[in-house]
Amino acid sequence: MPWFWRGLRDGVVTTRYPERPDPYASDFPAAITVRSGAPPLSPQEAAGLCPTGAVTTDDDGNARLDRGRCILCGRCTKVRPDVFAEAPGTETAATSREALVVPQPYGDDAELAAVRQELAARTARFRRSLHIRHVDAGSDGSEEWEIAALLNPVYDIHRLGMFLTASPRHADVLLVTGAGARGMAAPLRRTYESTAQPVVVVAVGTDACSGGLHADSYATHCGVRNLVDVDIWVPGSPPSPFSLLHALLMATGRLLPDGEATG
Ligand code: SF4
Repeated sequence: MPWFWRGLRDGVVTTRYPERPDPYASDFPAAITVRSGAPPLSPQEAAGLCPTGAVTTDDDGNARLDRGRCILCGRCTKVRPDVFAEAPGTETAATSREALVVPQPYGDDAELAAVRQELAARTARFRRSLHIRHVDAGSDGSEEWEIAALLNPVYDIHRLGMFLTASPRHADVLLVTGAGARGMAAPLRRTYESTAQPVVVVAVGTDACSGGLHADSYATHCGVRNLVDVDIWVPGSPPSPFSLLHALLMATGRLLPDGEATG
């Protein structure tokens, strides 16, 4: 019984997140950011830097980075380390697509607060029990590995009252992965319409947020935003299990987008 002795030796491996910050979660570089006080970029350099067009500039030449398009290839941090850096922390989910752009180009806090309030009101009944249906809308499979990891002893979403379900009829949340394959548009829509309302839709990964490298191709849409109404956006290619956990806790109203616990 080597597993028994190994269990005794290792003790409890399950994270205490979100009650306690987890060093692995807070140190993990889950996103790219623009350094404060970074020198300006020319629009041509910005356009040539990023394979997915995630880097742009504003009128003053300040870099903007759209995490919803970033596949975390690391190219911009190598070519312009004075402008871009890895951002530690896995709480990357947002309640609007626009909020994935850093630094924030506008500060309409009232609009963002209204979106959060509407989501919190709709999801109040999910706080203690959440059933999750996953739909693959053209994924490369990487997000599925991270979703499967949510069930292992380290993340163990069952301790939070969260369960995967095979039927959309039982689902409170749709986790949608993939770039929005054209062949999956109708099945995804049917799944969405089969769920009981209210349902929270989470776009999982950069592909689902924007289409990633294959946006708007013969086979894919620009992510899933035009196929279903997305409530929570999780960037990353793929996002880590902690990032998914962050999004699911937001869906239950137990965490705000910036990681602040609501109890
Ligand atoms: S790390 Fe992201 S933003 Fe930077 S070049 Fe790669 S895809 Fe573009």
